[in-house]
Parts: sequence; structure tokens; C-alpha cells
Amino acid sequence: MNEKIWLSSPHMGGNELKYIHEAFDENWVAPLGPNVNEFEKSIEGYLDADVQVAALSAGTAALHLSLIECGVGYGDEVICQSMTFSASANPIAYQGAIPVFIDSENETWNLCPVALEEAINDRIAKGKKPKAIVAVHLYGMPFKVDEVMAIANKYDIPVIEDAAEALGSKYKGKACGSFGRFGILSFNGNKIITTSGGGALVCHSEEDKNKAVFLSTQARDNAPHYQHSHIGYNYRMSNICAGIGRGQMEVLNQRVEARRSMTKFYVELFKNIPGIRVLVEPNADYFSNHWLAAITADPKLTGFSREDLRLALAEDNIESRPLWKPMHLQPVFADATYYGTNISETLFNNGLCLPSGSNLTDQERERISINIKKLINR
Ligand SMILES: *Cc1c(COP(=O)(O)O)cnc(C)c1O
Repeated sequence: MNEKIWLSSPHMGGNELKYIHEAFDENWVAPLGPNVNEFEKSIEGYLDADVQVAALSAGTAALHLSLIECGVGYGDEVICQSMTFSASANPIAYQGAIPVFIDSENETWNLCPVALEEAINDRIAKGKKPKAIVAVHLYGMPFKVDEVMAIANKYDIPVIEDAAEALGSKYKGKACGSFGRFGILSFNGNKIITTSGGGALVCHSEEDKNKAVFLSTQARDNAPHYQHSHIGYNYRMSNICAGIGRGQMEVLNQRVEARRSMTKFYVELFKNIPGIRVLVEPNADYFSNHWLAAITADPKLTGFSREDLRLALAEDNIESRPLWKPMHLQPVFADATYYGTNISETLFNNGLCLPSGSNLTDQERERISINIKKLINR
């Protein structure tokens, strides 16, 4: 059996261990310390958007805290992009709130502005104005930022920008993660950079950041004993993980370039194949980190389905994965309200994510290429 080619695997830069050693040398083995502070600063500098960043234990934790800070509570409705990873939606349920799912549009595969406005109007008509909108830059592709923000502003609903997959992506030259009332980043093991597990909340005021840090460190009131007036969480990032993050930030631009070159590789590979579409930027306003390369295969034109392709790759130990299954089709959200048509469902049925790691070798690309060509020429 050939060695496994992963969809997306960790790719260390070189200085991660240096920062971890510093933490050990200074005994900062705790969910605070110099690595946490420096990691936060480097993200703020990278986003270049006058933001304050709180490093947390996970992107999911960041989503949860952003909902709390937006005042989402029991019985509230929160709009959420349906085609996303479940972590975009689960924290809505943590709060006892109710997700309302929205279809994708066909260009970026993200939140459809038409279905979004229809949903807002309908929920308002039913006496339930949504408390927040969770919009996602899936696979690193920016959503239609201008359209979505204009609608959110028109109805005065805060946007929680799930940029877990989109660190390094830009819209009109501005960093993804910096547009919403809050932005969310993830440093899970499969993301473009990793801290082994971790996330961050992007805030637009010192006050919002301080509140996130307060809530993420068990909500301790200012007193010599343990005193609490709020429910707290244990969501802060460890100083060890932040050391990995500092090393990873030093190579982030290289990682973005490498991921983008993987999508270019697939564009070239599928160039003259009718029925295959590679997800690329719709126009020059969009800059995707192309965290994962994604395609759709129309079996009527290709003669094979995305599942045929997935299985053909799996036979040679190459990992690929269907596009994220929309939340309104998930058993756990079977009762949720949904607005839109069947765009996200069709994307899920025909779509596949292909190996996109920044550490793939020429030989590994060649193996991917040979296997795909074999199926095409069958
Ligand atoms: C990874 C991911 C998350 C969750 O991040 P974690 O750090 O794994 O908790 C949230 N949303 C999306 C779209 C993701 O891909």
C-alpha cells in the first residue's frame, strides 16, 4: 500500500519548538503567558484591521463566546449558513437558541443573500427577529461580504464571521475575519495553520476582548477569593499551544501560497474535462487561501460521480471528502427551519474536497494526477 495522502495535515514551520522551550524554561505552562500575548499580537498584525484578538482553546469556543457577547440566549433565533461544518451551528444549541438555516449561492458556495433577506423578513413577520447571523467563508472562499453585510446592517443584526477556514483570505483587500461584529479563527490540526487545537475570537474593541478573556477564564470577579457573578468557561488557549501558533504565524504566507498552488494544480488537471468545476474566485474582489481545493462533478457530463472519484482515490490510499453536508439535512437538525432551494444539497451530492496540504510533494501530486486521469480515461 502506498503511503497515505491526507486531505490536509499539519505542516510545521521550524520555530514552534523554540517557543515551546521558552515556555518550559520560564515555567509558563499555563493558559496564559508570553506566547499567548505574542501570538495574539501577531494575528492582530496579520489581519491589519485595528482588531483585538483573544486566543482560545478552539474555534468552537470562539463561536460560543461570540454568541454570548451578542446576547443570544434561550429561545432566540440565530441565522446560520447551512452548508458548513457542524461547529458553526452547535454553539447556537449550547445557548438553547434555535438555528435557522440558509442555502448557499452558486458562486462562492456561501450564504445566499436572497435567501438570507427572505428569511429575515419572514422571521420578523412571525415576531422573531434573528439575534445574529453566522456567515462562513467555507474552504477559504470569502462569502459575498458586501451583500451580506448590507443586509445585516439594514436590519441591524450582528454578523458572526466564521473564518475558521479562511485565515489569509481577503475580500477587496481586507482580511477575512475582520468584517463581522466578531470573527472566528480555528487552529485545529487540519486548518491552514495549527496550534494542535485552538482558536481565536477577533474583536473590534478592547471591551469585547476583555469580556471574552473574562468569560474564557471562568468569569472570576475581582476578589482575593473565588467570587462569581457570571457563568464562566474554561476556553483560554494554553501558552504551550500558543508557542506552536507563533512558529506557524511566521510561515502563514508560505502556507497560503502553497494551498493556492494546489487549487491551481487541480484547475490545470481538470482543464478540458466537461462537467468538472473547480471552486475558484468569482472575480478580483475575492482572494481565497484555498484551504481546501473543492470540485463538483456533474455525472451526466463526466460519466462518473464524485463518489466514484472518492473511491478511486481511496483505493490508492488518497484521502478526499464530500463537501460538507448541509446542516438542514443533518439528523440532529432535522426539525430546523430552512430558507432557500436545493443549491447546497446539489453541491453536497456532486462535490468533493481533494488533497490540499501545503506539504504535498511533487511525487504525491503525481500520484493524485495519475489516479484522477485513470478514472477520467476509463
Ligand atoms: C474547524 C471549523 C470550526 C471549528 O473550529 P475548532 O477549532 O475545530 O473548534 C468552525 N467552523 C468551521 C467552518 C470550521 O471549519
